[in-house]
Formats: sequence, C-alpha cells, structure tokens
Amino acid sequence: TAAPRTNFIHHLIAADLASGKHQRIATRFPPEPNGYLHIGHAKSIALNFGLAEEFGGTCNLRFDDTNPLKENHEFVAAIQYDVRWLGYDWGERLYFASDYFEQLYVFALELIEKGLAYVCDLSADEMRDYRGTLTIPGRDSPYRDRSIADNRALFERMRAGAFPDGSRTLRARIDMTSPNVNLRDPVLYRIKHGVIHHQTGSAWCLYPTYDFTHPLSDALEGITHSICTLEFEDHRPLYDWCVANVSVPKSPQPPFAKGGEGGFVKWNPPQQIEFSRLNLEYCVMSKRLLTQLVTEQLVNGWDDPRMPTIAGLRRRGYTPAALREFCARIGVTRADNLVEMELLESTLREDLDAHAPRAMAVLRPLKVVIENWPAERAEQLTAANHPKDQSLGTRQLTFGREVYIDQNDFAELPPKGFKRLTLGGEVRLRNAYVIRCERVIRAADGSIAELRATADLDTLGKNPQGRKVAGVIQWVAAASACTAEVRLYDRLFAVPTPGASGGDFRADLNPHSLQVLNNCFIEPSAAAAAVGSQFQFEREGYFIKDVDSTAERPVFNLTVTLRDTWGK
Ligand code: ATP
Ligand code: MG
Ligand code: MG
Repeated sequence: TAAPRTNFIHHLIAADLASGKHQRIATRFPPEPNGYLHIGHAKSIALNFGLAEEFGGTCNLRFDDTNPLKENHEFVAAIQYDVRWLGYDWGERLYFASDYFEQLYVFALELIEKGLAYVCDLSADEMRDYRGTLTIPGRDSPYRDRSIADNRALFERMRAGAFPDGSRTLRARIDMTSPNVNLRDPVLYRIKHGVIHHQTGSAWCLYPTYDFTHPLSDALEGITHSICTLEFEDHRPLYDWCVANVSVPKSPQPPFAKGGEGGFVKWNPPQQIEFSRLNLEYCVMSKRLLTQLVTEQLVNGWDDPRMPTIAGLRRRGYTPAALREFCARIGVTRADNLVEMELLESTLREDLDAHAPRAMAVLRPLKVVIENWPAERAEQLTAANHPKDQSLGTRQLTFGREVYIDQNDFAELPPKGFKRLTLGGEVRLRNAYVIRCERVIRAADGSIAELRATADLDTLGKNPQGRKVAGVIQWVAAASACTAEVRLYDRLFAVPTPGASGGDFRADLNPHSLQVLNNCFIEPSAAAAAVGSQFQFEREGYFIKDVDSTAERPVFNLTVTLRDTWGK
C-alpha cells in the first residue's frame, strides 16, 4: 500500500491535535445518493477516510439526502458497495442527513424565535430578482419583517402541508447587501409535495436545503474537519453562521448519540476546509452529465467499463489498490488541475504487472498447421504464470499440430523492422518451439486462409544453433482453444476536456470507444477463470473476465494496454 503523503489538510490537522484544539478528529464523506460514485469521489473518500485512519480518528459515511426527487435506494446501496470495495470501512458510522429532519426543523424554529429566519412568499423568479448580483446589492424581501409569531405559525403550516410547492420558503435573515451573495437571506426550506423520500417516505413535504443541512449535520455528528471541494468556499460564512446560531440539543436523540462520547455530542464547531476537485482528461465527472450518458443510453449503464464511475472502473479492471495509489499520487491542493489519463493508467499497469497472471490469447486468429508435427501427437508444456513471481505457479499448455497466432503477427510484405513471422522466416511461439513459415494457403477470395509451417524440435527452452529468431509471439493450440468475446475499450471521449469548446459534450464522444471481437481464442486456464479474474494476455494488455460471461462464452474486457513494448 501507498506510504501516506502529506498535504495542507494533513498539516492543519496535525497542528490542531498538537495545539489541543481537538483531542481526536472526526471527518465524514457526504455523498448525495443521486448517482454512482466516480473517481473524483474516490479522491474525497481516500482523503477523509485516510486522514481518520492516519490520525486515529473516525470517518462517517453520511448520505446527504435532501433532494428526494433525484435520489433512490439503488444509489444508496451502490455507494456503500463502492466505498467498501475501495477498502474503507465506516463501521457503525452510517448516517443519513434525513435522520436529522426533525432536529433540523427544531433548529429552524429556534432561528425563527431569534428573529434569524422568516417565511418568504416571493416566487423563485422574484427571489432571484431581489437577490441582486455580484455588482448589484440585493433588496429586502417585503416579507422580511414578519413577526416572529407569524413566522412560527406559517412555518408550522408549511410543515403541515397547507401551502403548494413554490409558494413559500423559509429564509435565513442575514444581509441582502452582503458582498457574498450566499449570505443574501439564503433559502433554508422549500416545499415539495408528493415525493416519496427513500428514507422518510411521505413524512415530510418540507425539505431543508444543502446549505442549512450540511453544517448542522456535521455539528450533530461532532465532525471536526469538514472537507469539501472549492466551489463551497463562498458558502463557508453561511456554514459558520448556521452552526453559530443554533444551540446544542439538550438531550440528543439517536442517531446523534451513536458513537458520541458518553452518548452526548459536544458542540465543537466543525471547520470547513476546501480543496480542489479532481478533473481527469477524457472524462466528464459531473453526476448530471454521467446521468445523461446513462439515461440516453450513450453507455451501457453506470458500470459501463468506459465510465469514470467506481463501478465502471471496477468492471474495466481497475483495482482498489491502484485507485488508492492514484489518489495518493495526485495529492491534495487548492490549485485547479486536469490530471492526465496516463497517470491513472500507469498506476494501474504497475499494480497489474506485479499481480496479474499471464495467459495467451489470440484476438484475430490465423491458423498455422505445423507440418512436421504428427496430428495425433499432443505435448504438455509447462508455462510460468508470472515472469517475476514464482508464487503464482505454472500452468499446462497443450501443444499440437494446429495452433492459432494473431493475424497481426504475420506479414507477407513485412515493413522494415518487423519482428514477427514472415514467409520463410522464423519466430518463437512463446513457451514452446521455434517455427518457420513455409507456405501461405489462400481462400477463394485471395485472403490468407492459413499458414503452413515447420517446427524446429530442438528449440524447446533453448535457442536454435547459429541463427537468430525474429521475435516471440503468443499462440493458442487449436485442439484446446476456447472461443471468447473480447471487448476492446478506448477513451469514452475523443478530446481531453469534453464540452469545453462550449458545444454539447456529447459531440465529443469517441465513436470508436468500444470494439467487440467475437471470435478470439484463449487458453483454457483463462476461459475457466472466475468472473473478475484478471490476466495479462501476453503482448496484448491486461484483461478482466466480465460479468456477461457464460459457461460457453467467456467475455473479457480490455483493462489497459501494455506499454508499447514493440521492438524491445
Ligand atoms: P457532482 O458535481 O458530480 O454531482 P457532487 O459534489 O455534487 O458532485 P456529492 O455526492 O455531493 O457529489 O459529493 C460527495 C463528496 O465528494 C463531496 O464532499 C464532494 O466535494 C466530493 N467530490 C465530488 N466530486 C469530486 C471531485 N471531482 N474531486 C474531489 N472530490 C469530489
Ligand atoms: Mg453535493
Ligand atoms: Mg451534485
């Protein structure tokens, strides 16, 4: 596993512990269950769980579920699965912001009693107009000076369902002329009738906003360091305002007591800290756009191996270790960044190179008949599963008169420097014999039907005498080859920053991001492997057995190609 790398948040936490500001730290990862997690979330997960682990603190998994329309159980389950799969464990510390709806309502009443919140009857459009802009100060709502008693009565009726959607909101009473637009009396509650919330069902028709819910959820859980991405920097004064203006509940109800010291949560104001989000070349990362790809069937679901979702990366063959190492390598800063795909891929290659057993696959088969090998003779050859790791053992290969090689490994008119099989030339079949191509057999249409060759029977495990062989190629014996489908994946988008030119991001999709090869031959050892098994198909790349596999027809996904080792 990766050695811990430090960053500015790390230093800040170390200082808070050293100064005694905190005895121990508590972080949280707060996904909204409105889609699957993506690799950007992995950065946040690795950071929050990583810091807790390193400093002996805790990290909560909290679903930030205040937008019931876009959220559901499927997403809740998928997120938990993905966090665990990445190697992080929240233990008992699973929370939902909706657990706090009752308490948040009590907080809102407290703000009303203090004259810090009011019920506003402006429509969304009117409110936008009153809010002003960066250069134009806002104007006070005509409802801003309602009496506390009226506000309380109206807010209670809002909860009771007396008013239609959009007719009223509860707003914080802060400052309509603040240079920070977020402080211009932000909305704390909106009315939504007829939605079934995945956790609270139809109990509520009143939903708190993110800006109100998030800081108070952090405070209720005793979070010390609330780490989020930079777009929330301007919300920090509002975050602090919310925490500062409500009181610690006198007798916290479960789940606040969960894991709290002595069952009581101390009101130690959490500190919001921002870092820059991960952007990755050739990807979109916003859940809105990922959702669009899925619903418009531009990909085959959230776990399509081309998706930058954790589920997609897993199906593509990314490993938790490689993703964690990638997160460590990209680091945590406040600078804008666009990470190169090559960094992600090379991190994965390192992991797979060390751990993936080798096997042979022929993706575009060309039959070779070895004429000096008797048809009935089968020879068992032993091949190492890994060139550097003997603990991965060996496997048997059955050599016979007919083998398949890749069409790309034979050329009638070889380009200069071609180190594979040519007419009259020799090549070594990996783990087996040196063969020489004697003749080309053509089909009626003139295409190459098969090759005729002879094997040098004195070349098993040793070089031929007095001559040099062009190269080494992979093969699969015809008698034991298994047919497989191989899905060759490329980048989902053809440009590094899809949609950046101002056009529709869908116009930047790579039309060649998936190529399906239906008639590949693979070794029986790979064909029989369990779904999720990973191999280096020698000279081709790393592949993973896909969940679409059947007993008759294994399916393999290209995870990542080998570094271009041609000619080495
Ligand atoms: P999106 O814009 O994709 O919908 P989000 O931030 O709304 O992302 P959440 O589910 O709310 O998605 O995110 C949960 C946590 O993950 C947040 O703390 C958020 O800041 C963090 N996060 C989301 N995207 C990234 C990213 N690209 N890089 C780093 N952290 C991210
Ligand atoms: Mg969010
Ligand atoms: Mg979002």
